[in-house]
Formats: sequence, C-alpha cells, structure tokens
Amino acid sequence: MSAETAFRDELIEARILIPSGVDGVFGRSGLFESIVDGIDSLITRNGQDQDAEIVRFPPAMPRSVMETSGYLNGFPHLAGTVHCFCGDERAHQTLLRCLEAGEDWTEGQKCVDLTLTPAACYPVYPMIAGRGALPQGGCTVDVASYCFRHEPSLDPTRMQLFRMREFVRLGSPSDVQAFRDNWVQRGKTIIGDLGLPVAIDLANDPFFGRGGTFMASSQRDQALKFELLVPVTNPEKPTACLSFNYHMDHFSEVWNLRLADGELAHTACVGFGFERLTLALLRHHGFDISSWPQSCRKALWNS
Ligand code: ATP
Ligand code: ZN
Ligand code: MG
Repeated sequence: MSAETAFRDELIEARILIPSGVDGVFGRSGLFESIVDGIDSLITRNGQDQDAEIVRFPPAMPRSVMETSGYLNGFPHLAGTVHCFCGDERAHQTLLRCLEAGEDWTEGQKCVDLTLTPAACYPVYPMIAGRGALPQGGCTVDVASYCFRHEPSLDPTRMQLFRMREFVRLGSPSDVQAFRDNWVQRGKTIIGDLGLPVAIDLANDPFFGRGGTFMASSQRDQALKFELLVPVTNPEKPTACLSFNYHMDHFSEVWNLRLADGELAHTACVGFGFERLTLALLRHHGFDISSWPQSCRKALWNS
C-alpha cells in the first residue's frame, strides 16, 4: 500500500474523512472542521494589516469568466463545467428510460453558463475591472471559495473539491512583487509556528499538453510561482499547502485592469489550502487535538 493510501485509510477509519465513493471527494467531521475554522481565523489575524476588501463568491462562476481568464489554455483537463437538463417532456422520458436501462442518461444535458471555480481568485479580476481604473496605490482583496479541479486521486491531499483562501494584490509591478515576497516570508513564519516543517520552493503549474511543457518552464524561468511545502502523505514528496503566484500582467491584460495613471496593472495572489493545512496538522500532531502543542492550539483556537 502506498503512503498516500495508508494515510487516507487512517483518516477514514478515524471518521475524520467520510468517503463519498468518488476519489478526491470527502465529507468532513466536526474535528476536521474545527481545525479548518482555526486556520481561517489565524489567516484573518495575520491579514489584518492588509487593508483588504473582503468578498466571498459561490463555488461556481460565469462560464465567460473561465473563457476570458485563459484557464482553458493551460488547464482544460482540470476544468469543471456545469451541465443541466434543458429538454422537454419527451427528452425527460428519454432520460428516465436511459436511467432505468442503466444507459447513459446524460447525453441530453446541456452546458449552462456556469463553470466550477478552479481557484478562489478568478472572480476577483472581473469584479475589480468592472469598477474602472484601480485606486491610487492599487488594492488588496480577501477571497475564499470552494474550488473544483478534476484531478481524482487516492492521495487525500489531492481532492477534487477543496477550500482555498487568498489575498489578491492588484497594483504596480513593484507593489505586487513586494506583496508576493512579503507573503512568502509571512507564510513560512505562520505555518512554521504551528510546529510544521516547512520549505519554500520554486514551482510551476500543471499546464496541459506539449505546449504546457513550455509554459511550465517559462513560469519557472521567470520565478512566477513559489510553494510552501509540508510533508503530509509522503515524506519524499512534500505537499504544496500555500502558493504564491505572480501573474505579471496576464489577468490585467485579459480584464483590462488599469492603474490610476492608465498603465496596465500587475497582479499576484497568496493562496492557503484549508484541507491540505488541516491534513498536515493531523499528520504531524496526531488525531487527538487536545494533545497538540500549546503554541499551536493557541494560534488556532486561542485555547
Ligand atoms: P499542486 O502543485 O499540488 O497541484 P497547486 O500548486 O496546483 O497544487 P495552486 O493552484 O497554487 O495549487 O492552489 C493554491 C492552493 O490550493 C495550494 O497551495 C493548495 O494548498 C490548494 N490546493 C490545490 N490543489 C488542491 C487539491 N487538489 N486538493 C486540495 N488542495 C489543493
Ligand atoms: Zn489566486
Ligand atoms: Mg503546484
């Protein structure tokens, strides 16, 4: 049995994760959620000085946002679309017949004008763009969402539906780079103080196909993405629990995000993965939270 499956089975056995029958889709226990809540308040406290506008979006977004953002260029294999029944009585009868016969009943489903949100920050750029030029000094947004990625896995740290909280910075290139560098340091301190072994590493996104290999290496060459890694399921392959992404003017170009002086803005985001951080804590401190290090309990629950 692999290290990944062994940890998954332990979590299921302890009823911390509830398997759904689909890989990477779990229910969560009260214990799991209390850790998620603790991480959420820890992030809130550490982001207090960011003067961030708080917004929350549902886990689906307009299909046009996915189309415009370029997500389908890089990650067509991860994207989730929403399909619904849009037929008449006859189509309904066909659906029921197929269902009864154990045949594919989904043929008549139509793609509607929604997709599942792949990362919490995607709805932020059109929101800000809709307001016109950025204010002097740019702006920072605090956003969180359930996210979907079609990457079924037996590794419990790679879910298909998971929660992400992000701070997104929109501003001049130097502001945005300083924000990103600052959060790399903060992230290291915040997570290290929870008693977790952390490492920062240069990273790339899992771009699709042959063209993707080029995109991934150019992302690395330009040092656009860093990850904070914690060993969770496999000591040899630590897991990205925080990501620090510098998009340069990618989102600004597609959404026409302008600085107060009319120049194209730059953007960056720091993303915290709630499920991965929770699993990292369970892995390192055990399933009995009353025995967790005092400093960790204090940071999460002030207890
Ligand atoms: P990986 O390299 O492991 O695929 P990622 O670098 O693609 O992850 P990001 O796209 O940067 O991850 O997403 C931001 C954060 O969301 C990650 O740092 C991680 O904590 C979390 N995350 C990403 N994918 C998943 C997943 N499949 N399951 C749970 N959490 C995830
Ligand atoms: Zn982001
Ligand atoms: Mg990655």
